[in-house]
Amino acid sequence: MREIALYIHVPFCIQKCRYCDFVSYPYHQSEAISDYFKVLVQEIQIRVEKENLQNIVLKSIYFGGGTPSLVPSEILNDFISFLGQNFRFSESIEVSMEANPGTLNSEKIRELAHLGVNRLSLGIQSFQNRFLFFLGRTYQEKEVHNLLKDIIDTGLFLNWSFDLMYGLPFQTFSDWKKEIEYLFRYQPPHFSLYNLTLSHRVPLGVFYKNHFALFPGQDWEASVYRWTQQALRKCGYRRYEISNFAKPGYECLHNLTYWRNQEYLGLGVSSCSYLKGIRMKNASTLSHYQKRIKNCRSPVVNKDILTLKQKLAEEIILALRMSEGFETEKLFQSYPENMVQEKLALLENFALSHFIQEKTGRWILTSKGTLIANQLFLEILD
Ligand code: SF4
Repeated sequence: MREIALYIHVPFCIQKCRYCDFVSYPYHQSEAISDYFKVLVQEIQIRVEKENLQNIVLKSIYFGGGTPSLVPSEILNDFISFLGQNFRFSESIEVSMEANPGTLNSEKIRELAHLGVNRLSLGIQSFQNRFLFFLGRTYQEKEVHNLLKDIIDTGLFLNWSFDLMYGLPFQTFSDWKKEIEYLFRYQPPHFSLYNLTLSHRVPLGVFYKNHFALFPGQDWEASVYRWTQQALRKCGYRRYEISNFAKPGYECLHNLTYWRNQEYLGLGVSSCSYLKGIRMKNASTLSHYQKRIKNCRSPVVNKDILTLKQKLAEEIILALRMSEGFETEKLFQSYPENMVQEKLALLENFALSHFIQEKTGRWILTSKGTLIANQLFLEILD
């Protein structure tokens, strides 16, 4: 049975955050959302045909964005019913939705649970007004607490998560400790931790260029990451991926698919897919995406058929993001011996500098390696 994960990109937000480099558009009219979902349905019809997806089973559905919690329940209802008519759902399907404070209340939380959404991922970023304001988020700390209270009080979501961000200008260690105190107060079963990363294309990226001294810097970020990891461990969280922590059994099934290099289908503007060893990318602007679909064309504008060597490098990198790492033996079963040996020689070099270690036939990043993971990954890709 071919099981895949399904990602749906919903590119609408109340306004653009000042650090945001995702494909998202400020949302003015509800018609924009209903039109978009009509196009998504057409995309499914086109892709099922073109990519032979008739007999797949969905193991997860993930509404990401953007702000998918802006989508009216009736539209979601129709869309999820359409998915149900066209695909089989696995019995343990995980249906996640990203949501922002200010866009969900207890009534909407009930509606989502009723529609079959069983996991919420909340983009909180901070519990402190001055950071929320600086980031250009559309809500205040009061709305963050209201949302968390609603989720806990309705008792309909056992599986939920929130994101926090560090590395913000003027942020001190005691500011960060305050964020973590709130995390411990609310005890989400899952938690994601990101440092602020800025592209030169976004307003805060320009601000950073002229005021980088106001930002806490890499050493501060490394010590915050280490401290947080220890604090979370004491509270029963396990880091299962570089930026993700969960209580046992609450790891995000959908994201595990990415890191385990398994198949997924991405729908919507700018989405990526990985099917039968081919990486695909949809058109990256809303108008281009919609135009292609309305002309009955696939929205995929880029296809990359990975060579065995690329596949191996990607598999190693993705696995190293996770604390479970990878099993050497499995690589030998799937790839030519000389190719695997070449990569292992590189990993042994990293091990000499204590960035990586081998434990009972599995390779994993050390805490030291986690802090420079992206540099190591670039060398593995080379
Ligand atoms: S809510 Fe998320 S996707 Fe939307 S603008 Fe802000 S950062 Fe970007």
